[in-house]
Amino acid sequence: MSVEVETPAAVARDPRRPDPRPLPLVFERSGEGKIGYSLPPLDVPDTIGIPEALCRAEVAGETQISEVDVARHFTRLSQRNFSIDQGLYPLGSCTMKHNPRTNEEMARLPGFAAAHPLAPEALSQGTLELAWLLERALAELTGLPRVTLQPSAGAQGELAGILLVRKALERTGRARKTVLIPDSAHGTNPASAHFAGYTVRELKSNPRGTIDLDVLEKAMTDDVAALMLTVPNTLGIFEDKILDIARIVHAKGGYLYCDGANFNAYVGVAKPGLMGIDVMHMNLHKTFSTPHGGGGPGSGPVAVTQSLVPYLPRPTVERRADGTFFLDYDRPESIGRLRTFLGNYGMFVRALSYIAAYGNRIGEVARGAVLNANYIRAGLSGVYHLKYDGPSMHEVVFSDKKQSELGVSNVDIAKRLMDYGFHPPTMSFPLIVHGALMIEPTETEGKPVLDAFIKAMREIARECEESPDLVRGAPHTTPVKRVDEVGAARNLVLRWRP
Ligand SMILES: *Cc1c(COP(=O)(O)O)cnc(C)c1O
Repeated sequence: MSVEVETPAAVARDPRRPDPRPLPLVFERSGEGKIGYSLPPLDVPDTIGIPEALCRAEVAGETQISEVDVARHFTRLSQRNFSIDQGLYPLGSCTMKHNPRTNEEMARLPGFAAAHPLAPEALSQGTLELAWLLERALAELTGLPRVTLQPSAGAQGELAGILLVRKALERTGRARKTVLIPDSAHGTNPASAHFAGYTVRELKSNPRGTIDLDVLEKAMTDDVAALMLTVPNTLGIFEDKILDIARIVHAKGGYLYCDGANFNAYVGVAKPGLMGIDVMHMNLHKTFSTPHGGGGPGSGPVAVTQSLVPYLPRPTVERRADGTFFLDYDRPESIGRLRTFLGNYGMFVRALSYIAAYGNRIGEVARGAVLNANYIRAGLSGVYHLKYDGPSMHEVVFSDKKQSELGVSNVDIAKRLMDYGFHPPTMSFPLIVHGALMIEPTETEGKPVLDAFIKAMREIARECEESPDLVRGAPHTTPVKRVDEVGAARNLVLRWRP
């Protein structure tokens, strides 16, 4: 099999003009006799002794590849990926902010990175103290007394939060069947409520895109366990009637759950606990700058009000009067464990490092995020349609309404944006905005980048009018053009065969 030889010159490229050649699969780099390592023959007795019947003499089409080919293959793949380290990643609702490198330094300290999860308590005082300090910091920021760090993602935090509510209601003889969720919510909200055994009832938003108090009042029966509310909501609009919302929910004995994925809009400025919120998940990989996805696992701590504390996942990290720390398994009312050990510990180190670096100035994060989103909003208003034009917090949701009249969709606009060197915004979410383009710049972008993004989006709007085919045919500069998304979802063949 012939494998292209890539010279450094061919690999070095303009990030806006990615190498157009298709990248061979790792299997296609295979060559007879290539090996990645070689060990001397075994010179001690074979104590494992795999039964002969289970050993194959030969693997059909086995990939034979050298270590250097493996390293180059995956490095090239990573270079074709777009990341926050390359440019603006305005994916709304995801808070794709810069991950400060000092966090990485802290997470790599051998005392944290090499800590063994089964090490005895006496040898784990530092790791336990860090978890305790992070819990204290998140409790302070949310205005809620206790926090569990166990959940591995926002969605698992939602599940944890709703299971806490369910347990509290059952323990107090008030088992209920329904969870209310506004029509603007993230899809994980109904999924989590359903998973926790509830029937989901959708609340229609008012024309401003926020909770309609009359609709809520009617829906809020004594069969409702909780209202799951995103604050600010997925339109980037703050629920300014939050105190009335909390009053209505509490009057019927329900709990107010807050999806805290959008905490970046007010972290350090306002406390959810003071707004009547009873339980809230946060995404360390959003608000607190720990890497997303391939950059590292997620973490979705959940903060709770006093009445939910007895049910928190087991174990909790506690401090004794003498200042030492221990894991408390003696929690008879706990909903149990959500995962092994303490959670995604490396993310705790990064998040605490981030919070400590800001100290009591952390409100600057939220102020910067809101300022940047509103700068983009001002730069694009009139060019792209704004269905809900309430004041924006940390993100702004435009739509393709004007461009769709010219036969160009939000997908086309997003693909064209890739030709301009930007990651596309979130699309087609929230569902109540048809053709949504949800933009969240975060506070870590400076004015020149925001200006360049606004300019690109304005140029694309002009192209939609003057040469719509150019936009409809985008992207023009990527190695892979339009993919068959339906085919990819319906025909899941991921296995390579020789
Ligand atoms: C990201 C997000 C979630 C889910 O969080 P994960 O960490 O991805 O599981 C839930 N709700 C909203 C509004 C989000 O943006």
